[in-house]
Amino acid sequence: MKKHAAFLATFLTALTMAAQTAIPEWCRPLPRAEYKTLERVKVSDPWFEVYKPAPGVFAIYEPHQAEEVISYLILGEKRALLFDTGMGISDIKKVTSELTKLPIVVLNSHTHDDHVGGNWDFADIYGMDTDFTRKNAMGSREDAQAEVTPDQICGTLPAGFDPKTYVTRPWKITAIVHDGDRLDLGGRKLEVVTTPGHTPDAITLIDRANGLLFTGDTYYPAPIWLFRPETDLAAYAASIRRLAALAPQVKLVLGAHNIPVASPTVLAQLVSAFDKVQSGKVPAVPDSPGKVLHKVDGFSFLMRAESR
Ligand SMILES: [Zn+2]
Repeated sequence: MKKHAAFLATFLTALTMAAQTAIPEWCRPLPRAEYKTLERVKVSDPWFEVYKPAPGVFAIYEPHQAEEVISYLILGEKRALLFDTGMGISDIKKVTSELTKLPIVVLNSHTHDDHVGGNWDFADIYGMDTDFTRKNAMGSREDAQAEVTPDQICGTLPAGFDPKTYVTRPWKITAIVHDGDRLDLGGRKLEVVTTPGHTPDAITLIDRANGLLFTGDTYYPAPIWLFRPETDLAAYAASIRRLAALAPQVKLVLGAHNIPVASPTVLAQLVSAFDKVQSGKVPAVPDSPGKVLHKVDGFSFLMRAESR
């Protein structure tokens, strides 16, 4: 009997290992070690997982799509700010309504498709005054379609969602934000720090009183995408320096993909890693056509093959 059980255990281990090699790393069971101690908040929609990285802050995570995007719902006493609205594959508005009854204003870390998918469903949307933002606010199909090819999806798409008709729906900007603007949520102030580079409209939010820095795609703990035509590497280098200078006021860095928590020490390390790339000290490893990956000191940057 025992022998039988041992055989079965070995067989099952082999089977699990085989299955795991077929599953991409991003699709493995959650939570990851970096945030498994965070409080998880139950919501009714299985497309999302919600964690609580700080008091009054919800990380709304979409683990079943390869971007592993994270939107943040940040609560004040009078209103809440939703920093990004995710893919638009499932109903993020419904999730937010399960998390707060406060009125919600949307502000995007930048307007790539994976951060604005639910914008259309909200009435109050703050945005940056850039042509890039205005163009994206008109909606698009191409980028959205690339997000739902079978290799980009892990598990089941929400019932009723049809990948063939999936688009980023247009939305209306109701107010413009500028560098240094303070958004008062009642008992919590968020300050806008413009951090162009990844896109012309990339921003970071700092909650100085609570030491929280929401970095969008300017920093997240996975290959940072710096290959798109709208990416400006010189602007990116300047923006991450600006964030590193804020580190003494920061307790927690909250990026927009993969893992919602990082230490502020990561900001100075990011500057030094990117400087090494810019000075040509980091080999370029070919990635997909036209793109190279620069890996250094625990960071990686996905860049245009010809750029540095
Ligand atoms: Zn982006």
